[in-house]
Amino acid sequence: MSEGNNYPKIAIDGPAGAGKSTVAREVSRRLKVKYLDTGAMYRAITLKVIRENIDLADSEALERVLRKTKIGLGEDKRVFLDGEDVTEEIRSSHVNELVSPVSCISPVRRHLVSMQQDIADQPGGIIMEGRDIASRVMPDADYKIYLDASIEERAKRRCKEQLEKGIALSLEEVAAVIKKRDHIDSRREDSPLTIVEDAVVVDTTGMTFDQVVDKVVEVINEGMR
Ligand code: C5P
Repeated sequence: MSEGNNYPKIAIDGPAGAGKSTVAREVSRRLKVKYLDTGAMYRAITLKVIRENIDLADSEALERVLRKTKIGLGEDKRVFLDGEDVTEEIRSSHVNELVSPVSCISPVRRHLVSMQQDIADQPGGIIMEGRDIASRVMPDADYKIYLDASIEERAKRRCKEQLEKGIALSLEEVAAVIKKRDHIDSRREDSPLTIVEDAVVVDTTGMTFDQVVDKVVEVINEGMR
């Protein structure tokens, strides 16, 4: 990307609990570009699948659900499913458990990737975060960052987050759920979680939130020079 490009496309990928959402949100605030949490879209579809009791093997029913579902992403992390605010519910344990299996289904991915690419094409720049952003959604991104951290650190961060919401979980329990999601996300056939060749890998283990944000902003600023 050339100097002075005010419309950067920034891709952030990485495994569950690496801190992508909080970091991407802060970087978006600092750089004044839009932010898209693609995981929230997969979570919203998963919630709909749960509510409508859809059998994941029933592709016709799934396609029907995809056609009639409206996902809205508002200010301040709000996520809407057919107009209803589901911001908290999409982070519940029943969604956590089913989101990776739902995300393996190609029609689901096609539908959401197409929505994400439409958003990426809007002017003004974007920071998009997920699992397949650099590899599939925005292979033309100006910056590709892969955020990682050890499983212990990711589980600890998740536990802390949950505790702040008043939910006490054991470290082992959280680590097991994260490992299971990582396993499914990185082994699925359609757009698995992967580190693209031109990604900058940032291992955030032992780093504070501010240090991670500074590092990501530094990677972007260096590319702009
Ligand atoms: O980012 P988050 O942990 O909220 O994502 C939830 C799930 O959505 C992931 O575990 C993955 O299965 C799926 N996902 C995906 N592709 C993306 C973003 C999320 O498959 N781009």
